Amino acid sequence: MSLKRFDLAGRAALVTGSSRGIGLALARGLGEAGARVMLNARDPAQTQAAAQALRNDGVEAEACAFDVTDPGQVADAIADCERRTGGLDILINNAGIQRRGPLLDAPEEIWAQVLDTNLTAVFRIGREVARRMAPRGKGRIINIASLMSEVARPGVGPYAAAKGGVKMLTRAMCVEWAPFGISVNAIGPGYFATELNAELVADATFDAWIRARTPAGRWGDVEELVGAAIFLASDAASFVNGQVLYVDGGVLAGL
Ligand code: NDP
Repeated sequence: MSLKRFDLAGRAALVTGSSRGIGLALARGLGEAGARVMLNARDPAQTQAAAQALRNDGVEAEACAFDVTDPGQVADAIADCERRTGGLDILINNAGIQRRGPLLDAPEEIWAQVLDTNLTAVFRIGREVARRMAPRGKGRIINIASLMSEVARPGVGPYAAAKGGVKMLTRAMCVEWAPFGISVNAIGPGYFATELNAELVADATFDAWIRARTPAGRWGDVEELVGAAIFLASDAASFVNGQVLYVDGGVLAGL
């Protein structure tokens, strides 16, 4: 099979939450595969800086700062991205937050904040983008799920509930939007040492536990998520729809 099937030249992509961490790595990866990428985060200066860093490396990248939890900002930003790119071909719903603490003490505001950012925004942005993709008869949506779409750990109740929801929302989007030529899949990362996990990386007991619990014996490198994203965004995955691809060093394969 020709490697051209993985080529993203001529495609436009929006990656939410891409000023750092996993989102930035995925944006860079799509860009290196030929796509024009729109970077997003709440902080405009950091979003601009990330886009500039990609441009310095020859990637076609632009900034589009907005808050994924604000329906008005989302509607305006998607219209703006569509105008600037001539139409989005690829959406990666990656923006996410973590708020740790026992469920017994979880305040309503934390529950609402985590569910809104990690689940409702996936619906909100997915719907906004799919409304444009549907009349064009094509599009790729990749939602960033998690190991926590399948298993929980004490202290991450709202996050696990949201990520479980992302898995089912991915399937719901697939069954409704596949007839319009839209593929909707998810990537479920295992443990990656990003800012979101800074607390865990700094905890020697957790670090030792995760290395022992992961068959690969280590944390993932964000670069190791790029291949899955390029595959799901490309023609190579033309009949792959409604799936969650776990990239976790084998964690979910065993107890
Ligand atoms: P980081 O905290 O490193 O990055 C999160 C990004 O999202 C930043 O660019 C942040 O920028 C942006 N963001 C946060 N809230 C919003 C918002 N309301 N609107 C727009 N942008 C926002 O996280 P990771 O890279 O680790 O995580 C990325 C995704 O991967 C998340 O969905 C996470 O749940 C998932 N994941 C991560 C794992 C890991 O091991 N790291 C494991 C499994 C899943 P800003 O704050 O400026 O808005």
